Amino acid sequence: MSETSADLPDTAPEKKDFIRQIIRDDLAQGRHTAIRTRFPPEPNGYLHIGHAKSICLNFGIAQEFGGICNLRFDDTNPVKEDPEYVAAIQEDIRWLGFEWNELRHASDYFEVYYLAAEKLIADGKAFVCDLSAEQVREYRGTLTEPGRDSPWRNRSVEENLDLFRRMQAGEFPDGARTLRAKIDMHSGNINMRDPALYRIKHVPHQNTGNAWCIYPMYDIAHALGDAIEGITHSLCTLEFEDHRPLYDWCVDNVDFTHHPQLLQPLLDKGLPLEAGCPHQYEFSRLNINYTVMSKRKLIALVSEELVDGWNDPRMPTLQGLRRRGYTPSAMRLFSERVGISKQNSLIDFSVLEGALRDDLDTVAQRRMAVIEPLKLVLTNLADTHEEMLVFSNHPKDPACGERQIPFSRELWIEREDFAEIPPKGWKRLIPGGEVRLRGAGIIRCDEVVKNENGEIVELHGTLDPQSRPGMEGANRKVKGTIHWVSAKHAIAAEIRLYDRLFSVANPDDESSGKTYRDYLNPESKRSVRGYVEPSATQAAPETSFQFERLGYFVADRYDHDPAAPVFNRSVTLRDTWSK
Ligand code: ATP
Ligand code: MG
Repeated sequence: MSETSADLPDTAPEKKDFIRQIIRDDLAQGRHTAIRTRFPPEPNGYLHIGHAKSICLNFGIAQEFGGICNLRFDDTNPVKEDPEYVAAIQEDIRWLGFEWNELRHASDYFEVYYLAAEKLIADGKAFVCDLSAEQVREYRGTLTEPGRDSPWRNRSVEENLDLFRRMQAGEFPDGARTLRAKIDMHSGNINMRDPALYRIKHVPHQNTGNAWCIYPMYDIAHALGDAIEGITHSLCTLEFEDHRPLYDWCVDNVDFTHHPQLLQPLLDKGLPLEAGCPHQYEFSRLNINYTVMSKRKLIALVSEELVDGWNDPRMPTLQGLRRRGYTPSAMRLFSERVGISKQNSLIDFSVLEGALRDDLDTVAQRRMAVIEPLKLVLTNLADTHEEMLVFSNHPKDPACGERQIPFSRELWIEREDFAEIPPKGWKRLIPGGEVRLRGAGIIRCDEVVKNENGEIVELHGTLDPQSRPGMEGANRKVKGTIHWVSAKHAIAAEIRLYDRLFSVANPDDESSGKTYRDYLNPESKRSVRGYVEPSATQAAPETSFQFERLGYFVADRYDHDPAAPVFNRSVTLRDTWSK
């Protein structure tokens, strides 16, 4: 018997990227029996679509392999961090459809990091350095020249321990001293040239208050955080490839496996002991054209009021995409289509839009709305004519049911669907021409009514009674079908027509002295007053519809009200950007 699609198991095809292959191999070889990943955002901004790729990867792998994924806030830089971001990040991850095993903070481990630093000092592997930041740069060397040893590199263990303790006791001002790893100033990898492990910062921390005035650097905090949580596969983006030797150096030289006493502070906090020996793997970051993704630029767009906040529907933040009408399943579909590799690439914005269209096509109910209204009066219907027509909510999914749409003598049609002087190939309404009103019958345009300025104010037409649904002429052929709403019954709505925020493919291009600010698309937000059929307005905020022939729209998460409806255009029905 030949295999048909109906015989295939109802599961997504197994993903084959290099990271999942490594994991399969690790499990097959018995190197690991349980998979642990983590997503480690720094709470210094809102999550964007690039983070979604990392979330789908880390949480997705945990799901697929029956493992766990932690959420760990990398909160080692108290200057830039804010509880507002902490709350938003959690909301965004849950919105994407994932739940973490444990919620941790790098700051939960500050005591462990401190003990680990003292151990490195005691082992002669770290020293307190008095060079200023500028001197450290001078001593560091370049890609082609080796660095020079700090004059403080050979302090005794006792002196280093004493100075480190006094750093923590608050005796020295910011920047006066650092704790540095003692590795190799001649290393070809600049990250290995005695990198800083701790710096002095007299700044209170959102979680630990004034308990600390020294804070660990990213590399040691990240590596040891992974080790403490028993992360098996630490997945990060390619720019950390050159940091991997330092990551391994931290894990190997602190070595929790043979020095479990360093983990005592965890027990004191009631945290479980689950330390292991993690490995870092790098994949390419997500880049998309027509947008910017650096947090610095996103923050500037908001603070300079170039957009209406973090959740502006044109922002690539998850909050913005959500408000635009992106669904969690569209985001996951997009991330699946983009895939995981080590090749840096630029993804076309249309791939993101395509994922949304494909997702919404299957789930969004259809409605009729008119965004640039022109009145059409059907003169052969009585003033009082009113009837309800039955429409299916989804052409491919009968389970979505049906609804009734009122039809009457005066309708709104789309101004764009009428042309007095039609261009070549025009299929819609012209003076004296015929067109089908979706689900209602065929009309002819008899008269174009203009005001004293010569502007069209309304059309008069007649409905062919034989062409109505169920009548013998119902299938009579006409070239075009247009949508409409009943003027008497339709509800006025604010319709926000969003488009790409930037009008050029690479807004990061600063070569001609411009910045991304110069590339903003002036057409990216337009608000119009349109009309929607009554049943659309009852929708709860965040409900998506296909407004027939216009695109996918979502009831605005914050501003939509059945009494004052607000719809955002999520995406047009077709890609209008590609040439
Ligand atoms: P920025 O450099 O703009 O501040 P970041 O990468 O430092 O962003 P984090 O909060 O540290 O932001 O990132 C958390 C996780 O998300 C990291 O593991 C990081 O590698 C991943 N990530 C961030 N941006 C992208 C991206 N564009 N594509 C894939 N993963 C990303
Ligand atoms: Mg970061």
